[in-house]
Amino acid sequence: MRPEKKERMLILGAGAAGLSAADAIRSVNPDSPVTIVSGEKGLPYARMALPYYISGKIPVKGIFTGMRRDFSGRKIEYIPGDPAVGLDTHRQKVLLRSGLALEYGKLLVATGSVPEYPDMLAGLDAPGICNLWTLKDALQIKRRIEHGGAIAVWGAGFVAFMAAKALAMHGRKVYLICRANRILRRVLDEGAAGLMEHALSEKGVVCLKDTNVEHIGVLKGGKKHIVLDGGRELAVDVLIVALGTRPNTGFLHETPLAGKKGLEVDEYLGTRIPGIYAAGDLALVRDCVTGERIAHALWSAAVREGRGAGLNMAGDRHQCDLSLLMNVIDLGGYGAVSVGHPLLANNTEVYQFADKAGKAYRRLVFQDRRLIGAIIVGRCTDTGFFPALIRGVPELTQARKQKILRFPWNIAPALLGL
Ligand SMILES: Cc1cc2nc3c(=O)[nH]c(=O)nc-3n(C[C@H](O)[C@H](O)[C@H](O)COP(=O)(O)OP(=O)(O)OC[C@H]3O[C@@H](n4cnc5c(N)ncnc54)[C@H](O)[C@@H]3O)c2cc1C
Repeated sequence: MRPEKKERMLILGAGAAGLSAADAIRSVNPDSPVTIVSGEKGLPYARMALPYYISGKIPVKGIFTGMRRDFSGRKIEYIPGDPAVGLDTHRQKVLLRSGLALEYGKLLVATGSVPEYPDMLAGLDAPGICNLWTLKDALQIKRRIEHGGAIAVWGAGFVAFMAAKALAMHGRKVYLICRANRILRRVLDEGAAGLMEHALSEKGVVCLKDTNVEHIGVLKGGKKHIVLDGGRELAVDVLIVALGTRPNTGFLHETPLAGKKGLEVDEYLGTRIPGIYAAGDLALVRDCVTGERIAHALWSAAVREGRGAGLNMAGDRHQCDLSLLMNVIDLGGYGAVSVGHPLLANNTEVYQFADKAGKAYRRLVFQDRRLIGAIIVGRCTDTGFFPALIRGVPELTQARKQKILRFPWNIAPALLGL
């Protein structure tokens, strides 16, 4: 039965943050009324599993998260396919698209982010043009590429990279249309991006850089005809648009929480309105390097923040650590890791190392006697030490720093005092 009282803990979003929050609430309080609302129909699933599904590595059932069997058994009410469209913070009510109004005692906003779409370009609504963001997108891509064909991915950020990699590993011809002069430009420098582009090309991905889509048409038989700004033309079966994301906060626009960049939270994941929490892709959390509040759009951050928010909603005061950015990019055993802020340019000391074989690369960035960021490509065995060092554990003494710079391919001995 639906709880009507204001004791309800209401979670908006059944993604990484929302489900982690529900788990945390249940770990403290087995009986409090918990309701999860999802904007999408069906059972909750993991977005980050979608590339593995379209590549054929896992079956569709592998993307659904474990909670699916547990909702009723764990006394959690689950309302799928009915997105929140409004919030009344005075009356403590959330309005859903169906007209249902849900009262809450504590509210978690964990509605993630939404893909950016280019405006003013005709032809984007043709069949076979989609994002790789939802299960619906993934099912469409999978269906269309079942019998071969070429794919273009428009964008060169993390999701674009994951899509290109998945489809290339599936034996498809893939074009990556990159507006900048390198792929993954927010997390990799030119040296690292160059190695990853080379590795992608060995898997069959053609990286088209410094270019953009100018025109999209549909050919006889359904192929997409793409004209790039340099005049090059492509004919593909599927065009995946992956041009970045923005926080999914549209339904909050008439509330005091509204903010284009996301929802600011304190170390307890609370927003500026008592009783309302935020976690996941839309939460602006304090960064451990810069101290600024930014969105760390990562699965691990969403799970950690969701857990923190859930514990606090259940009354178990839990302070979250400062957040650390870390992107792991794997290409079938060859990979890159970007941790902290390796591209920050203010008062930094930058060291770059490349091996003779042209396979491994490192960029270490120091500021005020701290390591603030690193990019590691190729040789990644000591990667696990970097997050701790950036957090200042152990302290970066002058002796340690010198040792790291003398033996940059394995920082473990410098940290462990070997
Ligand atoms: C293809 C792909 C690959 C990825 N790979 C990785 C990876 O390898 N590593 C990594 O760290 N991260 C990866 N990510 C990012 C990761 O998936 C996200 O950072 C993570 O899912 C964020 O969790 P979240 O709970 O904030 O949002 P989401 O998981 O996106 O969940 C948001 C939830 O809110 C619901 N919702 C939306 N609007 C409303 C509304 N109005 N009312 C109610 N509910 C609503 C949605 O239906 C969904 O259930 C990937 C993302 C994609 C798309």
